[in-house]
Amino acid sequence: MKDLKHLYYLENLLQDANNNLVREAQAGGRLAVGSVCSLIPEVLLSLPGCFPVRLRAPNTGSIDLGTYYMTSMSCECCRALLERAVEGGYKFLDCIIAPDACAQMNRCVENIDLLKLCDKEKFFISYSDVPMKSDETALRHYVKQMRIRVLEQLSGVYGVDVSDAALRAAVLGHNEACRLITAIGEYRKEDNPRITGYEFAVLCTATYCCPKDLLVDKLRETLDELGSRQPDSGKNFRARVVVAGSEIDNPDLIRLIEGSGALVVADRFCFGSLPGRQEIVLNDGEDVLLQICRQYLAWGKCARFMDTAKIEERQSYIDELAKSYHADGIIFEQQKFCDYWGYERALGSRVMRDDYGYPVLSVDLPYAVGTNAQLRTRVQAFVESIEIKNIQGKVTR
Ligand code: SF4
Ligand code: SF4
Repeated sequence: MKDLKHLYYLENLLQDANNNLVREAQAGGRLAVGSVCSLIPEVLLSLPGCFPVRLRAPNTGSIDLGTYYMTSMSCECCRALLERAVEGGYKFLDCIIAPDACAQMNRCVENIDLLKLCDKEKFFISYSDVPMKSDETALRHYVKQMRIRVLEQLSGVYGVDVSDAALRAAVLGHNEACRLITAIGEYRKEDNPRITGYEFAVLCTATYCCPKDLLVDKLRETLDELGSRQPDSGKNFRARVVVAGSEIDNPDLIRLIEGSGALVVADRFCFGSLPGRQEIVLNDGEDVLLQICRQYLAWGKCARFMDTAKIEERQSYIDELAKSYHADGIIFEQQKFCDYWGYERALGSRVMRDDYGYPVLSVDLPYAVGTNAQLRTRVQAFVESIEIKNIQGKVTR
């Protein structure tokens, strides 16, 4: 297929947390709000005068310093972020808003705080408690936490307008980017998709790491371009897969999977679009923050929600995705040493294989995946096993 016009530009943006669009927005007087978890609604960090930057550590090499402060048994993603912070990679941030969602990420952010790795005069870090269920009691608590730990902090320290009108404006901008990403992602349902999983991952990851308003023109042009893009005549893949699990902020991982024969048609992971890039629908009657929080709780597919209803909902959602994106199998992943997704992967892999009948590859991932030969071999073997299963299915029919 012909290269997408803006792919190279977007790939370059992903090479540095403090990328050109972040610098452009800050030069215009806007605040860069560091975000580390999907449980803080991104849209609250997109109020007028602010923009969220989901922290990543592109091109991570050694994570020795992160390991020194956090031990070798903690999540590699958190250690890599701390390492990048020690290197000075997040000094551009005006604040970090973190939830008490995952203890390992909290230790990472606490170390950034204790070591004073972000040193702007008014820089602050705010932590909030986020629920593990999605019932009405949890919702009330969530709304209160978001009000006092996010909105009041931003308005108190920086004078950010946190009124309902400002929240509605933030939702409008957020929705526009989500609408474009969702429309682009729909092409992955095609029999021979006109967009690869890698290309989609570049586009989607960029929306987490750049001011969305500075990106929408490129997204809109890409959507237009895809309208007439012709895929190669023969299929360049041997199986279609859903990737589900914890954070994947590096499109190179998706490229590695696709280079091993499996096209990634659905991204059910943190930094992905399912969920993550759906529009927020507001009515005129209710409090805006309440409506935002309710939708985030309802969509939430993080393994941190541990009640049975949510666990089963996560499994049936993967099944739904596999059906609507015509997947042949599921790659269930977790970042190495992630507790939540470790449990989820063990249970979910078995359920998706034994109860739902999908071929499943279950893997734990290093943060810096590079050209990991072991992972490549495992994906290749998985693809072959899907092909053999399909041949056997045809023979017995
Ligand atoms: S996987 Fe869950 S806890 Fe971890 S960053 Fe994502 S939403 Fe937060
Ligand atoms: S991968 Fe797991 S341990 Fe690491 S930050 Fe995400 S939820 Fe926390």
